[in-house]
Amino acid sequence: RFSEIIDQKNPQINAFLEINKEQAQKKALEIDHRLKEGEKVGKLAGLVIGIKSNINVEDFTISAASPTLENYLGSYDATVVKRIKEEDGIIMGMTNMDEFAAGSSTESSYYGPTNNPAAPGLIPGGSSGGSAAAIAAGMCDLTLGSDTGGSIRNPASHCGVMGFKPTYGAVSRQGLLDLAMSLDQIGPFADDASGIALMLESIAGWDPQECTSMEWEVPSFSNLVGEDGKETLKGMKLGIVKQFQEVTDKPIVKIIEKSIDQMQEMGAEVVELSFDYIDLCLPTYYLINYVEFFSATRKYDGRKYGSKIEEVCGDEVLRRIHMGSYISQKEFSGKYYKKALQARSLIRKEITRLLKDVDLLVGPTVPKLPHKVGDTLEPLEMYAYDVLTVMANLAGIPAGSLKAGEVKGVPVGLQMQGKPLEDAKIIQAMDAFE
Ligand code: GLN
Repeated sequence: RFSEIIDQKNPQINAFLEINKEQAQKKALEIDHRLKEGEKVGKLAGLVIGIKSNINVEDFTISAASPTLENYLGSYDATVVKRIKEEDGIIMGMTNMDEFAAGSSTESSYYGPTNNPAAPGLIPGGSSGGSAAAIAAGMCDLTLGSDTGGSIRNPASHCGVMGFKPTYGAVSRQGLLDLAMSLDQIGPFADDASGIALMLESIAGWDPQECTSMEWEVPSFSNLVGEDGKETLKGMKLGIVKQFQEVTDKPIVKIIEKSIDQMQEMGAEVVELSFDYIDLCLPTYYLINYVEFFSATRKYDGRKYGSKIEEVCGDEVLRRIHMGSYISQKEFSGKYYKKALQARSLIRKEITRLLKDVDLLVGPTVPKLPHKVGDTLEPLEMYAYDVLTVMANLAGIPAGSLKAGEVKGVPVGLQMQGKPLEDAKIIQAMDAFE
């Protein structure tokens, strides 16, 4: 069903780096056969799925879009992939991304940029740009991405699709190549909330193989969606944060305000809040990211897998390795990294305080519109895309993005953030509002 669309669109969009149609076809036939025989099939039966190239899938190239791992063939399935296969999902292939997930535009991929199907000529966002673009272009039903500081929500926003970052620990990271392991989470992209719900309930839950995964009761998310929006949003308390709007470009703020009005008409109650540490978010996030990434890359020394990372990687990855190595030096520990950890706990406390009296925080996902593919941005300009998404990772809370509207034809995303393990509330609200 999708293979024609992929043939037709992928050469230009470059959402998939690798596909295996024969294997997908075989699986589809097997499912058909089992259905005909009256056998039980899984929740994801027949759904075609793309996986970000930093999540291990047996026999696919897990390159993280880097020359470092260009020839690395997955030798096992990550826990999330195992669960997708158990539920009879059909894995079509691996999607494009920024090198090692370090970026917000998918331009740093060794395999060339991905184009935004919803806004031709512009970046799709990143780092999971291929996964978002594959959904936006109708190349598959569901995709997985990873989100360390916004890499699911940012491309969802720019491509006009839905993306969701679960509570930290709600989904196993086993088999995900680390960017910054205290922040990384795997999560789904889909066209709508039922797709998000279906994928999340398939992959979430405790994994004995992964020590940061949580033992929690996974709700049956798909039974919670499909309700009448008025009922779901009635009485829900939504917080809007002054500072989130202040850092955001005006045309985007307008769209978000309109959405909030609509949610109010659907029965939600809106309160205004103030978040004092918006200026701390990016420096805190990037310091932690540099240090953890540096440590994660020490295994790419060219001995066990692939090439020595410093010898082949792109500029942004090299910058992070150098910065991480510098900051990690013993004589600096108190000056940078410890400060970043202190700031992180301040940010977490502040978010907990804001969420105490409301169900969800709602606001823009990304403060500006995507740039043209190939425009050169300074590192700090690129980092500025992330100011509204990194706090959810720093605090470990769940957050999703869905399309709120368009500015001159370019999609704009609305972000919803909730309390830890209240992932269901966000998905229900996204369902009601979509
Ligand atoms: N853009 C952010 C970064 O470059 C987030 C990346 C991500 O979430 N993987 O680190």
